[in-house]
Amino acid sequence: MRIYKVGGAVRDRLLGKPVTDIDWVVVGANTEEMLAKGFRPVGADFPVFLHPKSGEEYALARTERKSGRGYGGFTFHASPEVTLEEDLIRRDLTINAMAEDDQQNLTDPYHGQRDLEARVLRHVSPAFAEDPLRVLRVARFAARYAGLGFTVAPETMGLMRQLSESGELEALTAERSWKEISRALMEDQPQIFIEVLRECGALKVLMPEVDALFGVPQPEAHHPEIDTGVHTLSVLEQAALHKQPLTVRWACLLHDLGKGLTPQEEWPRHIAHEHTGLKLIKAVNEQFKAPKDCQELALLVGQYHTHGHRALELKASTLLELLQSFDVYRRPQRFEEFIAACEMDARGRKGLEQRSYPQADYLRGAATAARSVAVQPLLEKGFKGPELGEAIKRERLKALKAYKEAESA
Ligand code: ATP
Ligand code: MG
Repeated sequence: MRIYKVGGAVRDRLLGKPVTDIDWVVVGANTEEMLAKGFRPVGADFPVFLHPKSGEEYALARTERKSGRGYGGFTFHASPEVTLEEDLIRRDLTINAMAEDDQQNLTDPYHGQRDLEARVLRHVSPAFAEDPLRVLRVARFAARYAGLGFTVAPETMGLMRQLSESGELEALTAERSWKEISRALMEDQPQIFIEVLRECGALKVLMPEVDALFGVPQPEAHHPEIDTGVHTLSVLEQAALHKQPLTVRWACLLHDLGKGLTPQEEWPRHIAHEHTGLKLIKAVNEQFKAPKDCQELALLVGQYHTHGHRALELKASTLLELLQSFDVYRRPQRFEEFIAACEMDARGRKGLEQRSYPQADYLRGAATAARSVAVQPLLEKGFKGPELGEAIKRERLKALKAYKEAESA
């Protein structure tokens, strides 16, 4: 049996990038031999094993053929006769279809190294079109390597367009899609992920609610970039520049969905878009089965981001409602993430990227004031049940009024 490093590990070493996880391919072996060497089988789908010590993935060389719709619609063939070249040809991109042995001898039948040098993301073979997930993967790699100058080869973009128009994208499961989307959002330039999906027509299929924002104008006074789609991409870009977590990036992507529903005669204004957007945010959340914290933050940011921007003008009672909605007393981190998303929204506007955002500290101060209300003295006064709740609210309101006065003094 011969063992090679493949995929990302080879690609990233050649790019001079840190290699985090290593995938291996095993040629000339069968399942029994792997088990005899102590490898542990993973799942029932593919002949993939975990190394008994390192835990890294070792896959038997295999060929694949499409036999139906979606990911289940694949038949594979693994046997000791399958060659390294046959295994590599089923891979998505040429830069991911290189292998190297323990002497770092490169096997590169599909010219991955040439494409690495030319900074091109190019499919290996027409079989690329057999798995719609590859559309998302290519967009994700574009987001990751845009900083190095990589772009998608026009022929590959053509296949991605074909896949988007064929209806195959709809066959993707929520789990597979979310895995790619969440990883793509955490890349250095997540806005490129959305741009590439839009360019090949996949955005219209996967997230029509986001696609609909392009071409929708906003008032130039607040939004020099005017276009809502362009704004959304800038917000995402800011979120990545400021190293925001996935929850914040997801909320940034979805915060303005309501603007896609505004009747044209109301353009460029978007009255109550925070409210109209909620059902769209909910739909996208559920479509991809986003994790609970991502779902929650996206909905809260959608509903309250304009409150964030107007924080300094909010009445004490409105501030209190905002803090209650976030349950800031038990979930302080979530409120921090809301503030971060608002700040990214404010900066994701043409020419305003460096602006200051005093609302952030103001909101933090308000949260601190409300949280400083002690419950013990109220208990000692004999409040309980619903009256206790009311008394706490009254005290918090007092604290917020005092805070506002102190701040405006
Ligand atoms: P990352 O740095 O994101 O891990 P990677 O290239 O290692 O990038 P993996 O998802 O770990 O990506 O997959 C390992 C390799 O398996 C890829 O480099 C590619 O050759 C192949 N591969 C993975 N998923 C697919 C797919 N859907 N279609 C074709 N080839 C795939
Ligand atoms: Mg990998």
